[in-house]
Amino acid sequence: MSQIRLLSPRLANQIAAGEVVERPASVLKELLENALDAGAQKVEVDVEEGGVRQIRVRDDGIGIAQDDMPLALSRHATSKIYTLDDLEGVATLGFRGEALASISSVSRLTLTSNSDAESMQGWSAQSEGRDMEVQILPAAHPRGTTVEVRDLFFNTPARRKFLRTEKTEFNHLEDVIKRQALSRFDVSFYLRHNQRGIHALRACKSQVDMERRIASICGPAFMESALFVDTETTGIRLWGWIALPTFSRSQADLQHFFVNGRVVRDKLVSHAIRQAYADVLFHGRHPAFVLYLELDPKIVDVNVHPTKHEVRFRDGRTVHDFLFRRLHGVLADVRPGDHGQPNMVQMPQQPPATPLQRGEFQGQASMGLQHVAETPNASQFVASYSSNNPSQAVIQDQLQSRQAFYQAAPPSLESQESEDVPPLGYAIAQLKGIFILAENEQGLIVVDMHAAHERITYERMKNALDGEGMRTQPLLVPQSMALSSKEVNAAEEFNGDLLALGLGVEVASEESILIRHIPVMLAQADVQQLVRDVLADLMTYGSTDRIQQQRNEILATMACHGSVRANRRLSIPEMNALLRDMEATERSGQCNHGRPTWTAMSMAELDKLFLRGQ
Ligand code: ADP
Ligand code: MG
Repeated sequence: MSQIRLLSPRLANQIAAGEVVERPASVLKELLENALDAGAQKVEVDVEEGGVRQIRVRDDGIGIAQDDMPLALSRHATSKIYTLDDLEGVATLGFRGEALASISSVSRLTLTSNSDAESMQGWSAQSEGRDMEVQILPAAHPRGTTVEVRDLFFNTPARRKFLRTEKTEFNHLEDVIKRQALSRFDVSFYLRHNQRGIHALRACKSQVDMERRIASICGPAFMESALFVDTETTGIRLWGWIALPTFSRSQADLQHFFVNGRVVRDKLVSHAIRQAYADVLFHGRHPAFVLYLELDPKIVDVNVHPTKHEVRFRDGRTVHDFLFRRLHGVLADVRPGDHGQPNMVQMPQQPPATPLQRGEFQGQASMGLQHVAETPNASQFVASYSSNNPSQAVIQDQLQSRQAFYQAAPPSLESQESEDVPPLGYAIAQLKGIFILAENEQGLIVVDMHAAHERITYERMKNALDGEGMRTQPLLVPQSMALSSKEVNAAEEFNGDLLALGLGVEVASEESILIRHIPVMLAQADVQQLVRDVLADLMTYGSTDRIQQQRNEILATMACHGSVRANRRLSIPEMNALLRDMEATERSGQCNHGRPTWTAMSMAELDKLFLRGQ
């Protein structure tokens, strides 16, 4: 009797389901992707009991023809690719042809669809986790598809045990729909839980609509401090919104990154973004962003992981470099003049948000957006003020109108933008030896003297050092260091990069190197650890910021000691000089730890404090 036997199709599907279907949220993700791939303009999601009892997704996409219905539920059956070449440039979210088969093997699934826009006559197929002989019955349905998944894991009790509370599962479901809604602004999304409307996100037809959708998904505070970015280089475009460093998070929970419309969590991408923020974020804080990377599908491999959450770039180093440089540049460009504090700037009169329409999907979270039946892809909305390096004026503009939208601020004082008064105004006094008080066009400016000076000193020291390259010194006795052969190869391959960083190393054997030179500023550092970490970075990302980071930490300490301490009396001209320095210094809106260096109170705010004009 043979020991090896073929798995039954059902068992094979259940095993495959282990990879794709972890919990209700993963079912929803697959169903939403199918709806979007079918060109849906409107997707309605109804869930019960955290999705365990039921998930129903209804779309108005192209639908499935009667003959295709059984195939849709079979494993390895897809309408999205036919050849290996198709896979290379795949533009749809799905392509593996296994989601419906997997889901139907661990639930009670009903697929109802109609591919004919002229009729209401559709077809319905049911499968109850049995082998896939499906019966196709007529069913009334407009063009589009409804997939209903009930009793998830009813036949796989072991999997069922891993499910969490209804609330937790629902939170995961909500995250999925939010992410998809961020990936396709041109599509309307509705979510109901236990008959209650949770989200009603109508299709966006302008950038303002897009920003409102983001505000309702990521919170208005994110949008208030977000900068719009749109930048490109040959064949790659990056656009979206990044939060100013002063809006940071204790967790990496407000980070949305899309590659060609696909939700992606990628090590290389997060590293590049973290690096761009490295100098302006307090240690342990996380930046917030909603970013879209668009590039030729042929240079991204999306078939890396069954849930397609990871991608592989053909030229990872270029992508990393592009992300880092462009975002770093935008962040460095933020100066006091741009940081219109709430209510500080003259608000342009904005049209009020459309009030929520009472509909069956009335959601409390989203703002009322008008439904548009046919809208182009999100990226086509992007306003024309994008450039490779957003100019100061652009940033200022953005922040001004942003605050107008998200703060619903009262009308502020008349402000004739005067040419003469600089953004941080002129010093009038010093408070307790700690704060500088200054007056500008809009009102009062308060500056944390020490924090501001520290940032300025730090930036100066960095610039001075960047200008002359990383100074290096020879070790009296070269250090021998044992490495893996892979690391030794990297040491050889990246020798030039290492030298530019001030590290002179030489291959000594297949598994060791000699360290001959180290950066002057890091003479006290643990050199071997440094070399190991730097090589690891170079091997993974093609670049490293460790040396710069360590150097910058030292500079930051030096800057802190070298800066005006509290309680030092400054003369008015000295204070004014500091204000002018701040305006001219990159990143001077935050101290080296990401805390704000200054704040402002407009006359309107002051008036409010004193109940004037009420
Ligand atoms: P994949 O998406 O990888 O092709 P699936 O198992 O998710 O595999 O779906 C199988 C096929 O069923 C799809 O290729 C598509 O032709 C069809 N299909 C699934 N969902 C829909 C839908 N909502 N609208 C139209 N066709 C669909
Ligand atoms: Mg699919």
